[in-house]
Amino acid sequence: MAVSKQDVVRWLDASQKVFAENREQLTELDSAVGDGDFGISLDRGFTAVQAELSANPPADLRSVFQNVATVLIRTMGGTSGPLLGTFFLRAGAACAGKSELAPGDVVALFQAGVEGIQQRGKAVLGDKTMLDALLPAVDAMRSALEAGSGLGEILERGTAAAHVGMQATKTMQARKGRGSYLGDRSVGHQDPGATAAHLLVQTAARAWRS
Ligand code: ADP
Ligand code: MG
Repeated sequence: MAVSKQDVVRWLDASQKVFAENREQLTELDSAVGDGDFGISLDRGFTAVQAELSANPPADLRSVFQNVATVLIRTMGGTSGPLLGTFFLRAGAACAGKSELAPGDVVALFQAGVEGIQQRGKAVLGDKTMLDALLPAVDAMRSALEAGSGLGEILERGTAAAHVGMQATKTMQARKGRGSYLGDRSVGHQDPGATAAHLLVQTAARAWRS
């Protein structure tokens, strides 16, 4: 199966619903290790994305991602707004000139997006951030691609790895962002950014299930 512009828009629409449904949970998680705004910002950001995509349907795949990035950076704020914005900007650049995405292109777009988050936020694996879900997800997707799996299987593997990574953040001490101010009191709480990252990958897997 190849992923079209419409499929990407379906993923973003589904993500808006998922973030709205998980708003309270994400806010509770961010209250434990941050300032409690994360669920609200994500819901606000993706609701604005949905409004923008339906008001001004983008001409091509790259513009979808670019518009998402612009809207998230403008509406989300916090640490996560610019980081997720960077994810979508880099993902868009990885799709330049393409009208459909083959499985390898999907893996490449996630990889480019995650590398953007790494470069911008300077976090590494184990710092208790969204990267603790995203880096293992990209590794798992790449291994599945190299093993010859189809898109559905690639995204299932990515989702499973993101889930394991998300759960592993519970025992980590935060070394980046607001959570790091808590020192070892950040241990015992699941990271909100990693939780949202798992949801984003899971929603792609569900939206693009062939
Ligand atoms: P804040 O309210 O502290 O500005 P948000 O609530 O917007 O931040 O986002 C919190 C999430 O951002 C955290 O759960 C973590 O996953 C993520 N995060 C924080 N710093 C970084 C970083 N340097 N790199 C990647 N993700 C980060
Ligand atoms: Mg916050």
